[in-house]
Amino acid sequence: MRILVVEDEIGLADAIGAILKKERYIVDIANDGQTGLEYALTDEYDCIILDIMLPKMNGLDVLTYLRVKEIETPVLLLTAKSEIDDKIKGLDCGADDYLTKPFSTGELLARIRAMTRRKGIVVDINPKYGDITLDLKKGEIVCGTGSIVLGRKEFQMMELLMSNAGQIVTKEAFVKKIWGYDDDSEYNNVEVYISFLRKKLAMLNSKVQIKTRRSIGYCLDGGRL
Ligand code: CA
Repeated sequence: MRILVVEDEIGLADAIGAILKKERYIVDIANDGQTGLEYALTDEYDCIILDIMLPKMNGLDVLTYLRVKEIETPVLLLTAKSEIDDKIKGLDCGADDYLTKPFSTGELLARIRAMTRRKGIVVDINPKYGDITLDLKKGEIVCGTGSIVLGRKEFQMMELLMSNAGQIVTKEAFVKKIWGYDDDSEYNNVEVYISFLRKKLAMLNSKVQIKTRRSIGYCLDGGRL
C-alpha cells in the first residue's frame, strides 16, 4: 500500500510519515499543493492524505483537479477546527473522509483502513499463496511451522507478488510501487531483493518459487499444494 501525504507543516508531515511507515505503508510526502498534485496524478497511490491550507495550490483545488482527471484515489482531508465550511466543500469536491487537527494516531490509522477497505483493498487479512502466508503485522513469511522476517523492501515486494499471484509483476511495476515513480536506476535493486526473497523461501522449504519472466518481470509459481 502506497500513501501520499500532502502537508506543509513539515513536523506534522514527517510525524504522519513515520506513523505510516511503522505500519508498513510506503509513504511519499509533498509539502505544497502543486507538488502533491504532480505526485497524485501518477495514480500510483492507494490513499492520499491531503491538507486543505497549502502553499502554491490549496487542497480543495488539488482534489477538484484530481477528480476532473478521473483519479479516484481515496482522499482523506485534514482540516483545522476553524475550517468547517471547507469540510463540507471538501466532501462536495470528492473527498472520501476528513479528519480534524489535532488527531490521534489511532484515529488516523482507522480512517485509512476504512477508506482503503471501501475501495476494495483488503489490508487486514494476511495474504496466502500455496504453502506460504504473509504475516502483515509481524512482517514475516510463514510456511508450515517455520517463519522468517523480511526486510522492509523484501516485504513490500513479496506483498506485491502475492497480490498478483500467478501473474507477472514487471520490474517497472516494482520500481514504481516501491521506490517511487520514474526511477530506472532501481532496476538492479529489484533483482537483488528478488534473490534475497528466493533464498528465504528456500530456507523455509517452501514449494513457492519466484520465476523470472525474461526481460519482463517476475511471478510466483507453486501455488498448488
Ligand atoms: Ca496547512
